[in-house]
Amino acid sequence: MLHPSAPPETLAALSELLRIPCRVAITTHHNPDGDAIGSSLALARMLGKVGHTVHVVLPNPAPGNLRWMPGYAEALDHSTAPTACEEAIATADVLFCLDFNRADRVYGLETALRNAPVKVLIDHHRGPEGIFQIIFSDISASSTCQMVCDVITGLGLEELVDAEVANSLYAGIMTDSGSFRFSSTGPHTHRVAAFLLERGARPDRVHEAIMEDNTLDRLRLTGYALHERLQLLENGAATLISLSKEDLERFRFVPGDTEGLVNYGLTVRGVRIAAFLVERKDGIKISLRSKGNLPVNELVAAHFEGGGHANAAGGRSADTLQETEAKLIKELPGFLAKYPA
Ligand code: 5GP
Ligand code: MN
Repeated sequence: MLHPSAPPETLAALSELLRIPCRVAITTHHNPDGDAIGSSLALARMLGKVGHTVHVVLPNPAPGNLRWMPGYAEALDHSTAPTACEEAIATADVLFCLDFNRADRVYGLETALRNAPVKVLIDHHRGPEGIFQIIFSDISASSTCQMVCDVITGLGLEELVDAEVANSLYAGIMTDSGSFRFSSTGPHTHRVAAFLLERGARPDRVHEAIMEDNTLDRLRLTGYALHERLQLLENGAATLISLSKEDLERFRFVPGDTEGLVNYGLTVRGVRIAAFLVERKDGIKISLRSKGNLPVNELVAAHFEGGGHANAAGGRSADTLQETEAKLIKELPGFLAKYPA
């Protein structure tokens, strides 16, 4: 089952590192998604089973629909317990970095992360920063959860995968692959999913827990965004949804409420790129999605301090919502012309 993304020599190095029980910290990116939380909690549970002392350290909490995952309640959150988080990283023999590959993605934990002497990367984003000692990096993988499953089997631990681990890993693969529909979904993605089902994952329950957990406020915010805030641009090739602080307040926004909203814009016939801008306390958050050969990670990297995948990327801006909108709208024609349909 092992995928080449878990190369034998890297696995051997990791195996050697974990040969005797040690202190492990596991961290992931700010605003953790299903892949971030699923991979962190699953790996933590697995390493706990083989005798390591493990702490999961999050830059900030997960949205409510991910908190059912086994081990979430024990995870440390830097936004509420900074000292405990920094201590867990400072005292760890090994720090696993999952589902991100640049130190600034962990926000307040950046210094603690940079100071950790032994960092193991398991991630599927482009261009890892040169700060990791053991590196599993595969941009073709659907998700970090898929890669963690390969690492687990590569270490010979598949018999220890229980239903809790299987559900967490399945959750991350499902969310990051858009329920097995994005182009990153390959035969190996389904092989890993099949293995997780054999180990007790319940796709019906995972899907319901994550996808059918809307509040009425969230559903109405979605309706409002689509009805009042969606603009069609570039002769129908682009959509843009912008939400201001006031928009969010009106629908009693909680983190996670706008997750996935950008994808609606991409479902409009003829649209090649969809943008979502949202006003946060610390500035404007930008999400871009595209179809086909339109590398939106290039656009955010060039103009909005971000990155990501070719068809899904994010970034930020310190300008106002209106200024950010204007800047994006100005860049669109040239970007679309550079990559004709
Ligand atoms: P989203 O739009 O869902 O926040 O993010 C889409 C993808 O873009 C994610 O997979 C993530 O890797 C990447 N991404 C989002 N925000 C940032 C950012 O601020 N910096 C970088 N480098 N990547 C980001
Ligand atoms: Mn991911």
